[in-house]
Amino acid sequence: MRTLETLLGGEWVATGEWIDVHDPSDLRTPVARVPALSAADVTRAYDHAERGFAVWKRTSPFERARIMAEAARLLRGRRAEIAEDLATEMGKTRAEATGETIKAADFLEYYAGLARQGYGTLVHDVRPDTRTHHQREPLGIVLAITPWNDPLITPARKLAPCLAAGNAALLKPATDTPQAALHFARALHDAGLPAGVLNVVTGRGAEISEALISDPRLAALTFTGSNEVGEALRAQLANSNIRFQGELGGKNATVVLADADLTAAAKAVAAAAFAQAGQRCTATSRVIVERPVYEEFTALLLAEATALRVGPGLAAGTTMGPLVSARQRDGVLSDIERAVKQGATVLVGGDQPRDEALSHGCYVNPTVLGDMTPELDIWREEVFGPVVALLPVDSFEEAVEAVNDSVFGLAAAVFTQNLGAAYRFADEAECGQIAVNTTTSGWDVHHPFGGFRDSGSPFKEQGEEALRFYTRVKTVAVHFG
Ligand code: NAD
Repeated sequence: MRTLETLLGGEWVATGEWIDVHDPSDLRTPVARVPALSAADVTRAYDHAERGFAVWKRTSPFERARIMAEAARLLRGRRAEIAEDLATEMGKTRAEATGETIKAADFLEYYAGLARQGYGTLVHDVRPDTRTHHQREPLGIVLAITPWNDPLITPARKLAPCLAAGNAALLKPATDTPQAALHFARALHDAGLPAGVLNVVTGRGAEISEALISDPRLAALTFTGSNEVGEALRAQLANSNIRFQGELGGKNATVVLADADLTAAAKAVAAAAFAQAGQRCTATSRVIVERPVYEEFTALLLAEATALRVGPGLAAGTTMGPLVSARQRDGVLSDIERAVKQGATVLVGGDQPRDEALSHGCYVNPTVLGDMTPELDIWREEVFGPVVALLPVDSFEEAVEAVNDSVFGLAAAVFTQNLGAAYRFADEAECGQIAVNTTTSGWDVHHPFGGFRDSGSPFKEQGEEALRFYTRVKTVAVHFG
């Protein structure tokens, strides 16, 4: 078992208390341990960040960009080692973990480019000989709390714009997957990030929550994770000036209209439903199919699901890895069981692999459910596992109604050959991300990203939009008469 230190105030430190990290393909022995920081350590992290911010906000944007671009280069160069750790702690396949590492580098490069560009607008002034502009400046200390499903790109998606804008940060990675965040921090540290600008607070969320949230130096919290935790944190900050961004759950639908390319639709749904064993906020978990093509589409989707090879993420030939933990596996199996009790039919999967070699891991077979009605819990609640449910409908209007009949509003897709239907769908679906003839997952670093309704907050991530969350506007009037 490896012992890892965490980055606080520019130093790699350990504290004496530890959190074990497990490999979900074989839970028998921990693969690593990381420091379990205490509330007092969190306060020290804020002290470091305060000093880091004083330096970083005055660091030229070109120097910030240089460091971030260098960190991106280091991540790319270390991608084999990082992908291995990522796959080992989270369960994703080597291909998925390598893709994630490269995308984390993309985030740093993209925002390194934007860091070079000043932000603001020249505006007229009614006073003579006066010119006025607004400029954007950093907020101060930002806390980023991230989940286990994309343990490298979620920190990258948040910290690249955060640091490009000149903020300092505390990063609290998920307890199950802290190694990825430490790799990210190491790349920035090795690239020359000044001490204290980024501090990684490895620890158990609930235990250090109070210290993380109640420090008076906190300027903004960006959170990705469950609705339960996100909404509790949002409520705690409700009467403060602390900015909150929440990227929460999803119940993403793909609509297959009768004129769709059914083979392409089945491949896209399978990719969106089963990649990372369904543990993506943008995973398709509901498929709404026009009745004339329901049976043909179902057969194609079942063929895609049964073709997947379930196994350890790092084993050659694996196309779907385990779930992240026994807790997650058991939760998904119990959601399926409840769906069956409520009347759903398992068309494929619904169980764990029988292979003895996989008996110590957190596996659930790719699962497709039929005999669905919109009242079933599994149709309404997020599962966050390799489970997709199918619902036949009689019209486009009924399909859109089914998409929007959800508390969530993250991503939706439509498959059709009809341009008019595609645009109507884009206008009418109440989701932040809309895909036409492609998957609900897989948005680029420069695409604004974030959900509507209970899936998110008004602040978007990714693209230039993300910089709004990490900056405040100052208006400057210059009289030169
Ligand atoms: P989670 O809410 O359990 O944990 C998220 C993070 O919060 C972890 O770092 C955890 O340690 C920390 N945490 C837990 N309790 C805390 C507390 N009381 N105070 C402070 N921090 C605390 O979520 P998870 O199980 O890690 O992730 C899965 C969830 O994330 C799913 O609901 C999924 O939809 C969501 N998610 C959303 C997006 C998006 O962009 N919308 C992306 C990925 C994941």
